[in-house]
Amino acid sequence: MKKLFLALLFISLLLCGCGKKEQPKPQDDLSKIIERGKIIVGVRDDTMPFGYRDKNGNLTGFDIELSKIIAKNILGDENKVNFVPVTASNRISKLLSGEVDILVATMTITEQREQILNFSIPYYIAGQTILTKSSSKATGLMDFENKKLIVVFGSTSERNLRTNVPNVEVLGFKTYKEAYNALKAGKADGIVADDTILLSYALSDKSVKLLPKRFSQEPYAVAFRKEAESSELINRVDYIIDSLQSSGQINKLLEKWGIQ
Ligand code: GLU
Repeated sequence: MKKLFLALLFISLLLCGCGKKEQPKPQDDLSKIIERGKIIVGVRDDTMPFGYRDKNGNLTGFDIELSKIIAKNILGDENKVNFVPVTASNRISKLLSGEVDILVATMTITEQREQILNFSIPYYIAGQTILTKSSSKATGLMDFENKKLIVVFGSTSERNLRTNVPNVEVLGFKTYKEAYNALKAGKADGIVADDTILLSYALSDKSVKLLPKRFSQEPYAVAFRKEAESSELINRVDYIIDSLQSSGQINKLLEKWGIQ
């Protein structure tokens, strides 16, 4: 009788799972976004033609359009996206703190960043060069040895610059607009940044020019928190980018925004 009682107790413990406490599984990021009905994306407003403001102050550009495509795929409506403007220096903390779900923000995949973030497959490969005065005789990076160059804080420019030109004075700014104004005010000899971002200044201002040779490769990708809960979201975004690439739609988008 006692044996039967113990056997029944054992079976009931097994069935109700009372033997060990089940931890509730944390909800993955993709389900959270679907439940919320909105995706929150960190974008730039100082990196024309990727993320900038039109004359009415609305965010626009390639990264904005890519974010809308992601929203449409996940939530069925391209308007189900909230944009949070980020700078190069605060974008990672805004992602890690959960203020945004993802970053679509001219973000280069680097080994250093991969220590703390996950990235999608790349959606564009930029490269860095220098924006300098049209009158400059410089032809390459080494011509700026012992001169002063501007970078934007939190971008890959400073590291690229220090590894290529050891003797250079570096001046940092928070946004590309401030960097450009400083160059125009004669505070330095050039700005180091992705050519795609600098090109808009060279196109609209004849007093500055871009050095034609890239000295780095900058594969842009969507950034995610490095945690198990982001894996479904990463798979979905990878699938979206891969489909845009195989259908040729991504090239049409790049063309639309004047990106080569
Ligand atoms: N793509 C580079 C980076 O991720 C520079 C452009 C930017 O400021 O985002 O740092």
